Amino acid sequence: MTLVQEESAAAAPGEALVVLEGVNKWYGNLHVLQDINLTVKRGEVVVVIGPSGSGKSTLCRTINRLETIDEGTITLDGQPLPEEGKALANLRADVGMVFQSFNLFAHKTILQNVTLGPTKVRKQSKTAADDQARGLLERVGIAQQAAKYPAQLSGGQQQRVAIARALAMEPKVMLFDEPTSALDPEMIKEVLDVMVDLAKQGMTMIVVTHEMGFARTAADRVIFMSEGAIVEENTPEEFFTNPQSERAKDFLGKIL
Ligand code: ADP
Ligand code: MG
Repeated sequence: MTLVQEESAAAAPGEALVVLEGVNKWYGNLHVLQDINLTVKRGEVVVVIGPSGSGKSTLCRTINRLETIDEGTITLDGQPLPEEGKALANLRADVGMVFQSFNLFAHKTILQNVTLGPTKVRKQSKTAADDQARGLLERVGIAQQAAKYPAQLSGGQQQRVAIARALAMEPKVMLFDEPTSALDPEMIKEVLDVMVDLAKQGMTMIVVTHEMGFARTAADRVIFMSEGAIVEENTPEEFFTNPQSERAKDFLGKIL
C-alpha cells in the first residue's frame, strides 16, 4: 500500500467523488470526448497522459464546467454539475484548477491573489482569508513573497501561488493541466514537490502531465487518452513498463 492510500484513509477512500458516465462532446465534426467513463475516488490521484490534441484539457475543463458536454453525465460528490449562477461559482471553487499558464492577477499582490476567491465566493472575512492565505503560502514555500506582484516572481513561484490560490477555496478535487509544461527545467521540481505533498495529504487530484517521476511517486492510476477516448488505464508501474495498446506503446516510445 502506498503512502498516498494510507493517508487518504481518513478521507473515506473508496467513495466516488468525480464520476463521468457516457460523456461525449463534439466540436463541430471533431468528436473530442468519446464515451468517457471515469470514476475518481476520494483521495485518489489520477494522472492523465496522451498525445497533444487527445482531449486531456477538454476533459479537465468539463469537470469544472468551463466546457459543456453533449451527452452523458458528470457528478461531483453525488451531485450533477450545476449549470449557472451561484451554484456554478461554488462548483468552480470546489474544483480547483491549475493551468499551464499561471493566470495570476497581475495587478494584485501574491496575498491578494490568494484571498480574492475566499472573500468573494466563500464570503470569508478579510482577516480569516489573510490568515489562511499566509498559511498556504507557507505551505507552498513562498511566504516571503506575499507582498510582491506576480511579475516579480519566477515561473515556479507563480505556479506555486496558483496552487495556493486554488487550495484557499478548500476544493474537493484539484485539476492540474500540464502545470509544469511552461516552466524552465530547474523550476519543475519545486512545483512537483508541492503536488506530491498534496497527494500525500490525501487531496483528490486529476493531473495531466507527462512527468513520469510524478506519476510513479504519486499516482494511483494512469489514464492514457488518444483521439478523445480513454484507451488504457493502469497503475503507473504497469503502464510505463508494460503498456498494452499500440497507441500507448507508440506514445511512450516518443516521450521516454
Ligand atoms: P490536449 O489537451 O490533449 O492537447 P485538447 O483537449 O486541448 O487536447 O484538444 C482536443 C482537440 O479539440 C484538439 O484537436 C483541439 O484542436 C480541439 N479543440 C480544443 N478546444 C477547441 C475549441 N474551443 N473549438 C474547437 N476545437 C477545439
Ligand atoms: Mg492540453
